[in-house]
Amino acid sequence: MGARLPDDTFQCHAYYLENGSNGVLLDPGSPLTIEETLDKIEQVATLSDIRYLVCHHPDPDIAASLPYLSNRLTRDDVVVVTEWRAQALLKHYGHRFDYYLVEDHDWRIPLAGGEALEFVLTPYLHFPGAMVSFDTGSKTLFSSDLFGGFVPDSAVLVSQDLDYIVESARPFHQHYMPSRELLTAGLTHIQQRWPDIQRIAPQHGHIIPTQLVEPAFAALKEIDCGVFALADADLDLKRLLRISEARARITEVLLTNVDPASLVNAINVILSGTHDAREAALFIDLPDVGWSMWGLGLAKPVRREPNPAWPVVALPGSPAALLSIHTRDDDHPDADLMRMLEDMSTTMRPAIDEFVDRHAQARRAAALRTEAMTDPLTALGNRRALDEAVPVGDYALISLDLDHFKDVNDTYGHATGDVVLARVAKVLGSTVRGDDGAYRLGGEEFLLCLMDADEERAVAVAERVRSRVSELGFLDQGIDHPITVSIGVTAAHGLARDGFAEALQRADEALYESKETGRDKITVHLDPALAGA
Ligand code: GH3
Ligand code: MG
Ligand code: MG
Repeated sequence: MGARLPDDTFQCHAYYLENGSNGVLLDPGSPLTIEETLDKIEQVATLSDIRYLVCHHPDPDIAASLPYLSNRLTRDDVVVVTEWRAQALLKHYGHRFDYYLVEDHDWRIPLAGGEALEFVLTPYLHFPGAMVSFDTGSKTLFSSDLFGGFVPDSAVLVSQDLDYIVESARPFHQHYMPSRELLTAGLTHIQQRWPDIQRIAPQHGHIIPTQLVEPAFAALKEIDCGVFALADADLDLKRLLRISEARARITEVLLTNVDPASLVNAINVILSGTHDAREAALFIDLPDVGWSMWGLGLAKPVRREPNPAWPVVALPGSPAALLSIHTRDDDHPDADLMRMLEDMSTTMRPAIDEFVDRHAQARRAAALRTEAMTDPLTALGNRRALDEAVPVGDYALISLDLDHFKDVNDTYGHATGDVVLARVAKVLGSTVRGDDGAYRLGGEEFLLCLMDADEERAVAVAERVRSRVSELGFLDQGIDHPITVSIGVTAAHGLARDGFAEALQRADEALYESKETGRDKITVHLDPALAGA
């Protein structure tokens, strides 16, 4: 029974339920539409049949005709059907009708034939006491502003086209509905209350026929609402929708088990769609490490302090963590974008905490590993470290053993022997570079492993070690003679991993030869593959 104003995309539908002398007029309308509506009713009924004036909420396009109706409807038992919060506003239109508060009448108006018009609240969609109703006879949902749309094409009242329905409803809901959560909750509540809806009759927009009822509910639940709650800066709906979508997608990302790299990558992908942010980086002040940055295209974090020129969003907690957003204009970052990220900062924090925990665990595990592979007296790698770093390819081995070390212990004591071992080890440690390794393999036996070295270079290194050790003075320990080492050298040429044991044995044989032939000297045993060539 509604009317469409000329040049208006906003149809206001009124509906009339014939019910003998207890007729129900739903959402009567405004002074602009009411006369046309009453004319239509008079084509099927008489105005004196109208008993109930249902106002699903108190907006003027629904209820501003009440003063006019106060004069046109002459019965004295006409009532305005609404709930208490709407009543508080509806009285301000200045009309003469009594109220029929649905909450006092079991949320229904009895209709002829045992049927009823039933009501449920749809809070905050878009008024606190907003409600919808359902005619149990025709199984029609009178959905008030839900499913409403701006309708550019006036010829269409009942639409068979779901896309058309949803697309004309979309901007309406984006503007009027406060949040997707509330909208979804309200729609679900309606579906649970009335599982058998055969038709949806909204106050604006299209009547939705049976086969589209379910899909229309599903589609409406997908509409992003409440985006103006994001706005501080300006009210550009498109921009707010992008920010809102970014928020929804960040939430989605956080639901999966994220690490900083995937979090910041996801945020970068999402923000690139907002056109306001150029780049996001995540900074965490990691304990024992310091500020570390995860950023666009970085496979690993880098040690870096936050760039003070970029606006930041702190992710509150300890250790300090923050999102740094490089915006188009860093002096005036998009306030709404930044606020959305700030709103999400506590939501993002657990992912950071989880990562920091994992990081600390990994560091502890690495420290334990290092400890297990380090000789405590000399801080050189032990045999386990060598097992982990077995060389391949071309390398040389220098096997060393202190001469007459038993005598040092026996004469000066074990503690002095330890000092000697530590100082000799220091010489060895300072000899190796890069991928080379220095190991303490036993009591006073050491090994140097030189990568990409041949016998010649290994002999030069061994000679330097030999002379430096023999020049170490131990007078402070009461030792008045030089400490010397015997050395065996060999090289391996392109040997696979399996060849290491042979090479090590060859170096030991060379060392043994040095011992046999006078000590404090170097013996070289060539790789037999090379010697034969
Ligand atoms: P050679 O010249 O033939 O190598 O004679 P050596 O006395 O050095 O050789 P031997 O193998 O007979 O003695 C090694 C000694 O090293 C015996 C052991 O007490 C000592 N030793 C092994 N580990 C340690 C240690 O951690 N600290 C100290 N102070 N001595 C150690
Ligand atoms: Mg010895
Ligand atoms: Mg020995």
